[in-house]
Amino acid sequence: ERMVSGEATELEETFELSLRPQTLLQYIGQDKVKNNLEIFIEAAKQRRETLDHVLLYGPPGLGKTTLATVIANEMGVNIRTTSGPAIERPGDLAAILTALEPGDVLFIDEIHRLPRSIEEILYPAMEDFCLDIVIGKGPSARSVRLDLPPFTLVGATTRAGAISAPLRDRFGVLARLEYYTEQQLTDIVIRTAEILNTKIETIGAIEIARRSRGTPRIANRLLRRVRDFAQVRGNGVITKSLADHALELLQVDRLGLDHIDHKLLKGIIEKFRGGPVGLETIAASIGEEAETIEDVYEPYLLQIGFLQRTPRGRIVTNLVYHHFQMEVPTNIS
Ligand code: ADP
Repeated sequence: ERMVSGEATELEETFELSLRPQTLLQYIGQDKVKNNLEIFIEAAKQRRETLDHVLLYGPPGLGKTTLATVIANEMGVNIRTTSGPAIERPGDLAAILTALEPGDVLFIDEIHRLPRSIEEILYPAMEDFCLDIVIGKGPSARSVRLDLPPFTLVGATTRAGAISAPLRDRFGVLARLEYYTEQQLTDIVIRTAEILNTKIETIGAIEIARRSRGTPRIANRLLRRVRDFAQVRGNGVITKSLADHALELLQVDRLGLDHIDHKLLKGIIEKFRGGPVGLETIAASIGEEAETIEDVYEPYLLQIGFLQRTPRGRIVTNLVYHHFQMEVPTNIS
């Protein structure tokens, strides 16, 4: 398991439940998205209507599931949670939709993984709150239309590009979650420490925030691991030097990069003179799938400007040489 992965482990999911902000006020950061949602929610409530369907997209661990829960809380309705891969047959979706109460939020995580045949059942459900189902087989088969209670679909995806256009067009609100700033992550770490009854110095929190790759899930995970060190090796208080020491042992560097990032970046420098080099070539040279590199390893490195995508392939930037205290080559072509 990677310390700096944005994905949750199964154990973590239970733990995270206790940390989830419940209201927009408790939800730190994402100000643009929050401000818009606040208005849409207020307007829907005033009109006594359901909120428009909302599509949340962005890398894992940025708070999509949390925000779906917050939306339901703010609307004063229940939330039903499922995911794209969990809905295999039309009947699965029909069962979920017909069990909704008026106004409910239906949260579909990884909505880009819904099979196309099931997506098509969602279209009339989203547009007209009705369900077309076929009863019987062969020549006697006929289609019946069932009315559904009005509901709000909140879809989440890490890959906006993987959503089909007809599905995307049926969402009234599209919201992209951004990586969090160091300040926002510091606030999140301090909030979580409070919930965990752990004493932490602000500069200790900053140290954890800095290495959390803009991602609340990673911040909370690092905090928990550092707390273990504070308890066993220190006096329970998370100071800056304790956080520093613990994170070094956990092999998470000052920017939140781990051995996989190092392998990728150093591989491009040592084997391809810093690039440009094609994704497939990099993948083969370090023994990883191209898709994994693109979806999991690259996004954060692109975000912090360590990697650049060009038509001729990936290039590492000068920042990488500085980070590794290597000499910047003079004749980059
Ligand atoms: P995603 O669904 O995007 O993978 P989650 O909503 O599961 O991410 O968030 C992961 C964890 O990070 C949550 O358990 C929550 O504790 C924390 N978190 C996410 N966003 C925020 C936020 N804006 N403020 C405080 N904590 C957050």
